[in-house]
Amino acid sequence: MSQSSCQWITVLGSTGSIGVSTLDVIARHPERYRVYALTAHTSREVLLNQCLVHRPRIAVLDHSDDAQWLRQALDEADQPTVVLAGREALCQVAREACVDAVMAAIVGAAGLLPALAAAEAGKRVLLANKEALVMSGALFMQAVERSGATLLPIDSEHNAIYQCLPVKHRGGLERHGVRQLLLTASGGPFRTWSADKVAKATPDQACAHPNWSMGRKISVDSATMMNKGLELIEACWLFDATPEQIQVVVHPQSVIHSMAAYIDGSVIAQLGNPDMRIPIAYGLAWPERVEAGVETLDLFQIAQLDFEAPDEARFPCLRLAREAMQKGGAAPAILNAANEVAVEAFLAERLSFGEIANVVEEVVSQPYAGNADTIENILAADHWARQQAAQRVMLQAG
Ligand code: NAD
Ligand code: MG
Repeated sequence: MSQSSCQWITVLGSTGSIGVSTLDVIARHPERYRVYALTAHTSREVLLNQCLVHRPRIAVLDHSDDAQWLRQALDEADQPTVVLAGREALCQVAREACVDAVMAAIVGAAGLLPALAAAEAGKRVLLANKEALVMSGALFMQAVERSGATLLPIDSEHNAIYQCLPVKHRGGLERHGVRQLLLTASGGPFRTWSADKVAKATPDQACAHPNWSMGRKISVDSATMMNKGLELIEACWLFDATPEQIQVVVHPQSVIHSMAAYIDGSVIAQLGNPDMRIPIAYGLAWPERVEAGVETLDLFQIAQLDFEAPDEARFPCLRLAREAMQKGGAAPAILNAANEVAVEAFLAERLSFGEIANVVEEVVSQPYAGNADTIENILAADHWARQQAAQRVMLQAG
């Protein structure tokens, strides 16, 4: 398909924070993008409204009761969108022949199989779901290579680095004269809090991110800095980097979204207001550019950019993620699964904030005999780690 003709887009997780921002950008360019499918877990009312505005061919919900409700509501509105239910339908709308691009914006491990289906089908994959690469980086990148898919990172830091690297950056950073990737982190809402205060933080405090408005899971990950740990793993896979080649830099203003440092001493950074519509528009239009509804940075208003080293004593999740990547195999999938269980328990007020890292550390330090050479084995590791983490959450609660 030529760059200028209209593209069909599937938005996986359309009712979430990234999904809503994606539809905002799409709606600004009706001549370039048409919505093929929208999907949600349980938010059927939000999905109904999105269907009425964006008129997708297909809508997907997890449960058949919700799908039946949506079918009826769309029928009453005389709208011909086909409604499907279940996980296989997510993969189906990701790999459908007429789909040009797939926004992978389901949160957590649930997003892995549909994102992989898009990669295997050779789509333009706009990857917001970092957990897919954390769990199965080697297999995911192999799928992209084999199918000839175009993988565009949507996570703002990775999108920034992508913009700072040469177009064909595969084959190791050294080959392109890159010495280091500088991954910026806001430091989250607890950057300046004491360890004692952080340990007792509530879900609402953890979700009140100073710069970004995001879903609750990634907001908690930002507060523990596990988000930066997951992003370190994500960057290793996307850019053929080792954990040692990535330096995390806390930058509280979230204006520089990340940087590439070259061997000649040049450091190239991408800057912008903290608005996910920037990387989303970049992914949709690449290699062209489209308007995203975002103002240009007002540098006079920002006035100052600060940088500091991360404090791994108060935020141990960053270290745990780096160690999991260094260990390799199923370790990152185990880390991710344990973290998902711990964060869910924290959000349900069954676990304290300080215990999230303890649960993850206890699970990743258990011996695990399985490997990560197939998706089935990765899902088995994920399952094992969830059971281990759930037991520890119960012990903590008891
Ligand atoms: P969110 O919680 O706001 O939305 C998640 C979406 O996934 C919703 O549409 C929900 O219905 C759907 N979903 C949830 N569980 C599901 C399941 N089991 N099966 C099918 N669908 C399911 O999350 P978000 O903040 O939009 O984040 C989405 C992904 O993007 C995450 O992986 C996150 O790490 C990544 N990301 C988000 C941001 C951000 O600014 N929000 C930035 C970078 C990366
Ligand atoms: Mg990010």
